[in-house]
Amino acid sequence: MRNFFYRITSAMARFMYGRNGTDQLNLALLVVYLIICVLQMVLARIKAAMVILNLLAIALAALVLFRVFSRNLARRRAENARFLSWWTPLKNRAAGARQRRQDKEHKYFTCDGCKTICRVPAGKGKIEITCPKCGRKIIGKS
Ligand SMILES: [Zn+2]
Repeated sequence: MRNFFYRITSAMARFMYGRNGTDQLNLALLVVYLIICVLQMVLARIKAAMVILNLLAIALAALVLFRVFSRNLARRRAENARFLSWWTPLKNRAAGARQRRQDKEHKYFTCDGCKTICRVPAGKGKIEITCPKCGRKIIGKS
């Protein structure tokens, strides 16, 4: 039995050799695919929506399979890099916002001039802050 599984996994490994496999873009496409599946359950009564969602789901599944088994690694890696250059800053910004919400000791102000985020201690009342980057004044309640 172990031999059987070993043969299957090594056959899979041989088959996948030189192919793209899973990358972050494929995972993201799979998440979109799952969202479409949920929408299909929610909108099951609306016929026009179902037609569009079915087409989208098929196209996405085909795209994911194509990218997983693709041998054009250069192209697929370039696509993934382009996706990450868009996605990573979004993810970091969301993580930063979450961290700032959890921080009760400080208040955060965004400079109107250069968008720098300035951190000041919380609970000091009305204060005037000078942006360390561009020198613009910010008045706020901390
Ligand atoms: Zn500034």
